[in-house]
Amino acid sequence: MRKTVRFEAHLDDYGQISIYLSRQFYNGKSDVFYLKKPDGSLSKCQILSFEFSQGDYNKYMIQTLEHIEIGQPYEITEEHGLKVPLQYSLITKTARFDHEFYYDGDDLGVHPLKDATNFALWAPTASRVILEMVDKPRRSYEMERTEKGVFRHHSPTNLHGKKYLYNILVNGSWNTTTDPVARSATSNNSASVIIDYTQVEVERFTQNLPVMEKVTDAIIYELSIRDFSAQAESGISAKSQFLGLCELNTKTPNGSRSGLSHIVDLGVTHVQIMPMFDFSTVDEDNPSTFYNWGYDPVQYNVPEGSFSSDPKDPIKRVLEARTMIQAFHQQGIRVIMDVVYNHVYEMESNAFEKVVPYYYFRRSSSGALSNGSFCNNDVDSNRLMVRKFILDSCKCWMEAYDIDGFRFDLMGVLDIDTMNAIEAQSKSLKPDSMIIGEGWNMPTSLPEEIKANMGNQSKMPHIAHFNDFFREHVKGRTSTNEITMKGYCSGDVSFIDAMKAAMIGNCLPGLVKIFDQPTQSVNYVECHDNHTSWDKLRECCKEDPREIRVKKHKLMIGSVLLAQGIPFLHSGQEFCRTKNGQHNSYRSSDAINQIDWIRKERHMDVVQYTKDMIALRKRMPVFRMKTSAAIEKRVSFRNFDGMLVIHYMYEKKNPYHDVWIYINPTNQIYYERFDDYVEILANEAGLLEDVRAQNTTINPYTLVVFARK
Ligand code: CA
Repeated sequence: MRKTVRFEAHLDDYGQISIYLSRQFYNGKSDVFYLKKPDGSLSKCQILSFEFSQGDYNKYMIQTLEHIEIGQPYEITEEHGLKVPLQYSLITKTARFDHEFYYDGDDLGVHPLKDATNFALWAPTASRVILEMVDKPRRSYEMERTEKGVFRHHSPTNLHGKKYLYNILVNGSWNTTTDPVARSATSNNSASVIIDYTQVEVERFTQNLPVMEKVTDAIIYELSIRDFSAQAESGISAKSQFLGLCELNTKTPNGSRSGLSHIVDLGVTHVQIMPMFDFSTVDEDNPSTFYNWGYDPVQYNVPEGSFSSDPKDPIKRVLEARTMIQAFHQQGIRVIMDVVYNHVYEMESNAFEKVVPYYYFRRSSSGALSNGSFCNNDVDSNRLMVRKFILDSCKCWMEAYDIDGFRFDLMGVLDIDTMNAIEAQSKSLKPDSMIIGEGWNMPTSLPEEIKANMGNQSKMPHIAHFNDFFREHVKGRTSTNEITMKGYCSGDVSFIDAMKAAMIGNCLPGLVKIFDQPTQSVNYVECHDNHTSWDKLRECCKEDPREIRVKKHKLMIGSVLLAQGIPFLHSGQEFCRTKNGQHNSYRSSDAINQIDWIRKERHMDVVQYTKDMIALRKRMPVFRMKTSAAIEKRVSFRNFDGMLVIHYMYEKKNPYHDVWIYINPTNQIYYERFDDYVEILANEAGLLEDVRAQNTTINPYTLVVFARK
């Protein structure tokens, strides 16, 4: 399959072996092959087929009727006496393999107890596993193979803080690796580290979290640990660290709130933290030298070291990540973790591939690696032990770190059953947890009907997707070659029907229906990817003076916050964040990515407006309906020569009979006369108190909310 040495033998199914023989060796011809068993005896194989290759290798399919005990070392010998280890290859992809080796215990990994430590590693194709304790004096222990291919070791002491590696004999070679389920690591993952979570406890503030009845009550604010405090003017001491997000009452140079206090003041209910698991591309020994968002996982259950106050201290990163999450909980804010279970940084060096080669990464039936993630590998979520790994990993973050929900990067690479199992597990651990994801249709080698993408939303009723229809039509097209195209709020009123569909979370037939329920739609115009909406407006509304672009920017923020579904804001969007036109800043500098707190001071009106629209959403149940049936019963629309009017009507006060949203993206002033007096709840100035009118005006580029009791 790899065809890197002159002779390879792959067990691709039970009894079925693929042979690759280099044509530089006896013309790649052999009339006979033998299976050499662990006891040294030979058994002749039957040649089923032979493919004369045009390339460097000939391929044979051979068969053995011998029982192969998986995990035992076998060899294949060809007629000239050349022999190679028999590799456990695509056999690991068979349903029978999963059936025989699926292990459902909850004791995988390293579990320190009061007076003991238990090690368990799932490695069914390995013939030997040696545990290496790397602190001096270095010690090695042969691990015992037990049921389902789990290798175990018991130590009679609590080994909290100790470093370890595994040496695994598999497919004829020794692989040295960290533990795929390790809880911590030395800097840059040179060794795994045992963590006794009970020795790294922090005070929990679950009681401070407000009741959350439904996911449409959430208002999500996406941020990067590094970016939020990187700037000198942030007023935050622990720059670019977990602890930077724990500092309260920090100030910008002119005395505005920054950091955590800024988030609390905005009123959002959830923060979404960009990758905080261990990723590869920032050198933890020199964390400020390189910049990367971190969508390149190495250790899924280990907090990233570059966010720690001391990356060389494996306990600190655990303690500080836990402290950060509780700092949010203490303020009544829940934490959604951005997880990247769809691919790893580098397959060959990853612990998955070193422990059970071929198992964890998706391949086509011919053995070719699937690359739906466009990152050279796809995690094979529909293998039972891969699914279990992801489930256990999510459970670890929820139990040990108190995470409240997950945002799945490239969820469309994963499969529906895995996502539904994660959702069910999350709800059982925390009934008010939430799962959202990027439901794009990725070209991964899974059948269309089981891909966890938006097209299959009805099969994942409790999972929400980033709504790109909303993004593309409210703001305007996102791709760089369409960057000059406007959306409805940036001035193209021909999208008025699309705007209707977007504002109700694309969940009603007749308009563009994408979701069954509004609880499945994450409404956004800006996230860490692509141009910020301010930078987009600079491209698609070049003709507008700055003050009009600010108005359009506010119009988009208002639309996100008053639409049915789950509103999502990107940090800094509330003060017109710019990345100087860079559309993909994943490895740009801190200067491009950091939150510019000076900019907050320049755009206090937009901050206040965002705050007001958040407050309005929280105050008004009408914007947070749970079902499409409830929306359908109450909503109606009116076109007003380019302006959109959304009208919600209630039989009983809730607390109003009627609520209208007028969205005017045009340069015209509109006049509206109501039959009787209405309250003006909000306009471009933000929330209004006790303002009543019968004759009203809707200014250009504004959104106005009226209500009648
Ligand atoms: Ca790292």
